[in-house]
Amino acid sequence: MLVHTPITISGTTGYTGAFVTCGGVRLKDVRPETLEGKAQPGLYLCGEVLDLDGPCGGFNLQWAFASGYWQA
Ligand SMILES: Cc1cc2nc3c(=O)[nH]c(=O)nc-3n(C[C@H](O)[C@H](O)[C@H](O)COP(=O)(O)OP(=O)(O)OC[C@H]3O[C@@H](n4cnc5c(N)ncnc54)[C@H](O)[C@@H]3O)c2cc1C
Repeated sequence: MLVHTPITISGTTGYTGAFVTCGGVRLKDVRPETLEGKAQPGLYLCGEVLDLDGPCGGFNLQWAFASGYWQA
């Protein structure tokens, strides 16, 4: 019954209700071994500021923690 229950999506809660944002600095614009910006040497990027996002379930927090630790 649950699987066959029709659910109509009427909209989203918009930016203020968003859990994660897509977009950001393109991955090809950072050095993959250090996450240093190619356009600005000495500037390192991590987490959501980079154009990398995943579905809800811990992937985004994991990326934020791991990429931050990577540079520490
Ligand atoms: C309601 C909600 C629920 C979520 N649930 C999950 C989940 O269950 N699982 C999951 O994996 N992800 C979840 N996420 C996403 C996850 O929290 C983010 O992807 C992650 O926290 C991004 O980490 P970040 O360090 O890149 O950015 P942020 O955590 O946004 O940290 C950026 C920091 O920079 C500070 N800042 C901004 N501008 C300036 C400035 N000019 N000067 C100084 N400081 C500044 C901000 O105050 C903030 O503290 C959720 C997000 C939201 C909003």
